[in-house]
Amino acid sequence: MALQPIRLFGDPVLVTPASEVIDFDKELRQLVADLTETMQAAPGAGLAAPQIGVPLRVFVWDIHDELGHLINPSLDLSEELQEGEEGCLSFPDLVYETPRALRAVAKGFNMHGEPVVIEGTELLARCLQHETDHLNGVLFIDRMKSEQRKIAMKEIRESEWFGLATTDGSTPIIKTSPHSTFGLGL
Ligand code: ZN
Repeated sequence: MALQPIRLFGDPVLVTPASEVIDFDKELRQLVADLTETMQAAPGAGLAAPQIGVPLRVFVWDIHDELGHLINPSLDLSEELQEGEEGCLSFPDLVYETPRALRAVAKGFNMHGEPVVIEGTELLARCLQHETDHLNGVLFIDRMKSEQRKIAMKEIRESEWFGLATTDGSTPIIKTSPHSTFGLGL
């Protein structure tokens, strides 16, 4: 297992749609392990493979002390929405009101290639949506209401990490408080 640097907003890998996983092999299981270790060290509640520079449809989560992972997900969402704040490990120290569906059903596969269905409400539903968005190159700023997005973009441009993203994985170490995204980093 190995900790990986988390890519920052500005890295093109974060806005590039990821590819389906074809081979459910040892490398995939290593990727799930690396994602899990990196998420837990952040600490964060979720992490998608593009956030560590791997353009594959894989993500992990750690919600209410339950670890999970999902590969090649597809989502069904409730029409009913939830309010609430959301953070992203690729946007250190920032948390914003982000509307999401209240409930989500995610269908996909585990790392052994077995089909799985994950049903979530509230934070888990938020996480499933946030991470699936990452696999499509969509970021949480894209899901904010326009007023909120304006405020967020201003703060992002003023943040100490803005402009430090690199494309070769040599993400600089950003000093943040241990709970910089208040447990809401996804
Ligand atoms: Zn994120």
